[in-house]
Amino acid sequence: MKFDTIIIGGGLSGLVCGIRLQKAGRKCAIVSAGQSAMHFSSGTFDLLGRLPDGTPVDDPIEAISKLDGGHPYSILGADSVEKYAAEAEDFFAGCGIKVSGNAHKNTWRVTPTGERKPSWLTISDFTPLEAKDSAIGSKALIVNILGYLDFNTRFLADSFERQGTSCRIESIKLDEMERLRKNPSEMRATNIARVMDRDGVWEKAAAKVKEKLQGEDVLVLPAVFGLKDASVVEKMREAIGVRTMFIATMPPSVPGIRSQLTLRAEFEKAGGRFFLGDTVVDADYNEDGTVKSIGTVNFGDIRLYADDFVLASGSFFSKGLIATPEKVCEPVFGADLTIAEGRDNWFDRNFWKRQNYISFGATVSSSLNVSVEGREIANLYAIGSLVGGCNALYEGCGGGVAIITAMKAADVILEK
Ligand SMILES: Cc1cc2nc3c(=O)[nH]c(=O)nc-3n(C[C@H](O)[C@H](O)[C@H](O)COP(=O)(O)OP(=O)(O)OC[C@H]3O[C@@H](n4cnc5c(N)ncnc54)[C@H](O)[C@@H]3O)c2cc1C
Repeated sequence: MKFDTIIIGGGLSGLVCGIRLQKAGRKCAIVSAGQSAMHFSSGTFDLLGRLPDGTPVDDPIEAISKLDGGHPYSILGADSVEKYAAEAEDFFAGCGIKVSGNAHKNTWRVTPTGERKPSWLTISDFTPLEAKDSAIGSKALIVNILGYLDFNTRFLADSFERQGTSCRIESIKLDEMERLRKNPSEMRATNIARVMDRDGVWEKAAAKVKEKLQGEDVLVLPAVFGLKDASVVEKMREAIGVRTMFIATMPPSVPGIRSQLTLRAEFEKAGGRFFLGDTVVDADYNEDGTVKSIGTVNFGDIRLYADDFVLASGSFFSKGLIATPEKVCEPVFGADLTIAEGRDNWFDRNFWKRQNYISFGATVSSSLNVSVEGREIANLYAIGSLVGGCNALYEGCGGGVAIITAMKAADVILEK
């Protein structure tokens, strides 16, 4: 089978790259082993929340000059990052995902535990806060669904109260949830959303929530609405009539999964082929050292050929990188990696501290080419969290690196 470009990995970076290439007329395939980080998404894409030394960042673009040369943003250059960041909002709108944000000014999101984290693009389900200590209102009603354990109302109330908002906690009971409630492991965000999304059910939930209001100016609900269609979230807001904040739940993430499904549908609508549940296992090369084809588990002896290959296989979490007690490797091509010298520097025994292994990843050129054994491969690119040199968790830059490297790699391929 022959394509113009084959992308390995169908998470955020693989899909953004695939959509951009496919819409520009290239024939693309994405081979993806399974779930992606989007299934665990907080509902925001983060550009840069703090510098490697811990300094908080207010203006991500301005802060790029303070990053060291190995960071993906430094490799691409601040102008390039700014250009792609400016395109991102329209890119997602074009795919049917409403996001808002400003690459020159971080806003703040509320995490499931009530913490606040800097963010760039916020999916429209959520309400970005202007400042870390912004009050969400003067009186809040926090409503959970009876039996749902992945939405910690007490943590949220404590956090909102610290910023001067008085909080009351209630829950609603819906007959339609009874089947799920019988088994607590079934009471997960995605299962609840499947029930809520049915016509008649979300209307009932909205009416029950409304009955609980006692003059509060803000209502707080778990983000368990609109698994397939974001309009359910807007309809809930309208039906309730009071300013409603949806808060990310513990995983799985309903808005994250919806966004992943929407991007995949957009890629396929543009003519791309998405092979889900298949794993790329090896590659072979042309005489000039470029990649010729890849092999996958499901295709067996049938090789997949392309002019260009994009590695979007993620980090350890998605098995884009594999660690053994002796080494860390990229399993498909054996790509050269940027890793910390000395195993003792890989991690900190204090779980909550910065973990260096999260910044391990593929060493890339300014056009995102990968090298293998020191030799740059002209038609192989790495994007997203597979790229080394940044610590997505500590610096809060995962979404930004994924989106911006994906757009850049697509443009490099298109300009060839
Ligand atoms: C749990 C978690 C939550 C996060 N939440 C956020 C957030 O809320 N906001 C934010 O900005 N950033 C977040 N991040 C950072 C995140 O890494 C990026 O935002 C981004 O989603 C990464 O996308 P990706 O496409 O690079 O990789 P991934 O999403 O990891 O996708 C990689 C894909 O490649 C597939 N794959 C791997 N190997 C192969 C193979 N050999 N063959 C075929 N397919 C393969 C995997 O199955 C997976 O589908 C989070 C990260 C994690 C781990």
